[in-house]
Amino acid sequence: MTLPQDYIAEIQEIFGAETERYLQLMAQPPYKGLSVNRLKAQPEPLTAHLPCAAEKSPFYRDGYYLTGDTDGLGKHPYHQAGAFYIQEPSASSAVTLLDVQEGDKVLDLCAAPGGKSAQIASCLHGTGLLWSNEVVKNRARILLSNFERMGVREGVVSSCYPEVLCEKLGGFFDKVLVDAPCSGEGMFRKNPEAVTEWSREHVKACAERQLSILHSAAHAVKVGGTLVYSTCTFSREENEGVIQAFLSAHPDFEAVTVRENFGRPSGVPCGVRITPMDGGEGHFAAKLYRRDGSVSASPALRRTVKPDPKTAEVLRALSDILTDIPQERLYIMNDKVFFLPALYPDNTGLGVMRAGVFAGEWKKNRLEPAHALFMAFLPSQYRRVLNLSLSDVRVTDFLQGLEIDCDTVNGYAAVAVDGYILGFGKCSGGRLKNKYPKGLRYV
Ligand code: SAM
Repeated sequence: MTLPQDYIAEIQEIFGAETERYLQLMAQPPYKGLSVNRLKAQPEPLTAHLPCAAEKSPFYRDGYYLTGDTDGLGKHPYHQAGAFYIQEPSASSAVTLLDVQEGDKVLDLCAAPGGKSAQIASCLHGTGLLWSNEVVKNRARILLSNFERMGVREGVVSSCYPEVLCEKLGGFFDKVLVDAPCSGEGMFRKNPEAVTEWSREHVKACAERQLSILHSAAHAVKVGGTLVYSTCTFSREENEGVIQAFLSAHPDFEAVTVRENFGRPSGVPCGVRITPMDGGEGHFAAKLYRRDGSVSASPALRRTVKPDPKTAEVLRALSDILTDIPQERLYIMNDKVFFLPALYPDNTGLGVMRAGVFAGEWKKNRLEPAHALFMAFLPSQYRRVLNLSLSDVRVTDFLQGLEIDCDTVNGYAAVAVDGYILGFGKCSGGRLKNKYPKGLRYV
């Protein structure tokens, strides 16, 4: 890999005597990793049954290094089932600084494709609220697909400008994460294209954009709340520089000294830098606390139940699928059926693409359940489950969209592999008609 001279000069200032070691490492393959999704799985037994070796990383409580045969892991049935998210190990560090607690309302402002949102949802464990925003619409669609795969119920996906979103949701969140777009110096081994895009001008432009996003994000943090800023770059201008500029402009925020047992100290006590010499591709994360300041009036929570003439019929149809229906969350709009999150603020004009779980569509006097409905609960919460073992050929057949043999009673059934739900089908006379979405099928 040929690195720009200007970049090497910048790196020498940061890494000093370790620059040589860094340059040697750049000729080696990148670190690989995953984070476990506790909404669906436990680290044990999941990591013991993967086709590659998984070893705990220091960056996150459920973060693992992967070594050995990692090819095809993104198509592994456990991955399709949302049991884990493939994530560069050091990228998981920012959520550790965010220190998400059950019941928190969390905003992930620059969220696609969704690795850190997956971690946050796992930490919230079905409580509180995760609002994940991505300004680029196509990327927001990928975020939404990952949300569904991970089975996030208490969540919102939006595609909105940070300044609009954070103004409207002023002071609403306990924790806000800004995983900002950056020059990607920590991505050079994973994505060599980032090398060709690197220039001093690009670094400067990134720093300006990052500061502007952080200014917006500040509005959304409640007094007493936490703001974490992260990048996957080493640049002081984009990291320490942005934090210092932000703190100068925001006396209502203070730096929180971080003492994590990973990475290395940065040029600001509230920040940690992770380099390839520290066991990750490269990340910077800094933690700030909002001690006071005025916030715009926080939005009211929405009333979740909307009376609809079809409610009773929809509930009857749902009760044939789920053992316990979150009835108070039911929301029907234009024949589309949702379970809204419990903590859902007014969303007008915020580019909301999904709130809660899309349960299905009412068509021709019956409910057509959605794939997302079957990804959002655990096997014990469905009336019928066809649970297959990983070695069963029906797992691949199902993921290819084929009809398979099924021994459940007739009706809609979740299809699981080793207890992780992959999707659903309709069982009739010992055969299961496949409802696995076309866009997700093995080809
Ligand atoms: N947090 C994500 C994850 O863990 O998967 C990665 C986020 S990535 C580093 C930064 C994101 O910011 C990108 O998805 C990018 O589209 C988005 N972005 C780009 N320009 C932006 C802007 N002006 N404001 C907010 N987000 C922006």
